[in-house]
Formats: sequence, C-alpha cells, structure tokens
Amino acid sequence: MTESNAYLPLSGMELPRFAGIPSFMRLPIVDVASRAARDEVEIGLVGVPWDGGTTNRPGARHGPRQLRDASTMIRLVNQATGMRPFHTARCADLGDAPVNPADVEDALARVRAFYGKVREAAVVPLSAGGDHLVTLPILRGLVAGGAPVGLVHFDAHTDLYEGYFGGFRYTHGTPFKRAIEEGLLEPARMTQIGIRGTSYDMDDIDYARSKGVRIVTIEELMDRGTDAVMDEARARIGDAPAYLSFDIDGIDPSMAPGTGTPEIGGFTTHQAQRMLRRLDGLDLIGADLVEVSPPFDPSGNTAWVGVNIMFEILCVLARSVARKSAGGGTHPTPA
Ligand code: MN
Ligand code: MN
Repeated sequence: MTESNAYLPLSGMELPRFAGIPSFMRLPIVDVASRAARDEVEIGLVGVPWDGGTTNRPGARHGPRQLRDASTMIRLVNQATGMRPFHTARCADLGDAPVNPADVEDALARVRAFYGKVREAAVVPLSAGGDHLVTLPILRGLVAGGAPVGLVHFDAHTDLYEGYFGGFRYTHGTPFKRAIEEGLLEPARMTQIGIRGTSYDMDDIDYARSKGVRIVTIEELMDRGTDAVMDEARARIGDAPAYLSFDIDGIDPSMAPGTGTPEIGGFTTHQAQRMLRRLDGLDLIGADLVEVSPPFDPSGNTAWVGVNIMFEILCVLARSVARKSAGGGTHPTPA
C-alpha cells in the first residue's frame, strides 16, 4: 500500500464532513485515462447515472449524485471487522460513466467503453447505479473476451427475464439472462439471494433451473440463516473470479423505500451487512449497488443505507485486491 495519504478520504477532522465537494467517500477524483489510474489506483468508485432500463417507477439516474452526498458520512474503520479499506487498497472516485438518457443501446455502448478503460487500467470498480441494466455493460466491459465469472446477486428479483413489451431485450429485468447468453457469467457459479414478491409468470425461475443458477428465496434465507446461505454462495464460486451485484430492493422497503420496484418481506440492513462480511475471501473483479431512486427517497435514508452497503462491499473488495497484490497476481488482462 501507499506510504502517502494521497488516496485516503479527506479527513472530517480537517474539513467538516458536510463541507467541500462530495466525491464518493471524500476520496480524490481521478480520471480513468490518467497515469494515476493506471499506476496507482486499485479500486475505483464509479457512478452510472442512467435508468433507461426501468420499466416502472424511474429515478435511479439520480442515484450517484445522492449517494455521493450521503457517502461523505462514511468513516475509515469498519468497527465490526476491524477492516480499514482505504488503508488496505488505494481507492479513488473515477467520476461518472458517460451515458445517453435518450437511447438505450447507445447508453450501453458508452458504459461498456468506460469499463473497458477501467479494465485496461487494472482498476477494480465499485459502481453505483443507475438501474440494474447497468450491470450488463459493466460486465461486458470487464469480462467480454475472457472467461465467464461467478456472481453473488442480492435482489428481490432474478432479473432473468427474456424481454418486455413484445420482446424488447434490454431492461432492468433482463441483465443476467443477457449476461449468461453472452458468456459473461457462469450459471453454475451464480447465486441469487432474497428473491420474492409477485411476478408475471415463472419463466425466470424456470430459466434459472434449466441453467443451474441457484435461487435462494427470502423464505429459504430466513429459515437457514445468512451464514449458511453465504457459505453456500462462496462454495459455488470457489477460487475463481466473481462479481458482486447488490440491488437495494433486496432490503425490506421499510428500511430502503427509495427504489422503483419495492417488495415487502425483505432482509434487514443488518442482515445485509452480515452477509457481505461473510464474502471476505472471494476473488472479486468488481461490484455494484443499484436501484437507489432519490425521487422515491424523500428522507434520504435509502441513499444512506446504500452507501453503507457500498462501504461493506468496499471492505471485501479491498481485501480481494490486497491478496492479489501480495500474491504477485494481477487483475484480468485487457482483451
Ligand atoms: Mn435488480
Ligand atoms: Mn430488484
């Protein structure tokens, strides 16, 4: 790790946390194409302010800005685990991926190109959506041309549908089916946790079963407990690279109401923290937190929940990065 403080968050003891320009977690802002990104930054926090895949209540395009604001409340140490992620890996805010709010396919191309640069710089991204379709171009940028990766996916929904509105294939209900079809994800190493609610049909569940994707319903999670389920998800992934995707609607809407597709009967914020801490040890190529919709979040609490989830994920990512640099390993090489 660096000897300097260049990649530590701006201290709240120097400038109060409510003051200054709100980068993610008060980290320095670094251009993805810069030498600093290539040579120094190990984890990049990225906003993807786009919700063109939303089929019902919109607003997740406003997520990154509100999450940055809320993230200035985050401190240095995870008291539960002792983790100090900013001291374990060099972290920076890489700004927002470029998007096009008026054209879905062009937006996907722009986001993918941005994550291609993240990959070239050997930076591990922690992204903030945006709706859940943003995970597809992120995976295209990080994985395309390489071996498919495993997935731990927290959500009320499988997002494994074929299409909406007569076969339109790109919505926030379809990213993981597209990613499997495109060889970005390995179904046998995928686990989806927290699935519940009403649905149009069972096509997504049937598809998951046919491909070997493991679905853990909220009922099973509550019956078996979080540790047992996370241990199973880890065992399915093994030592090979994986991605982590967290849809805020996995959390119960009493604790995270500011999202487009809430479903009652979810897991709690504390259970979410326990589950994420249990993932320490995975080899992660990146992660995201999606579907925070500020227009449905008048108290701001959903964004506050979201950035704490991002902090827990960052702790796991920092350990993953540190293990690889200690072992002389490298990040995935560019295609
Ligand atoms: Mn989702
Ligand atoms: Mn969802």
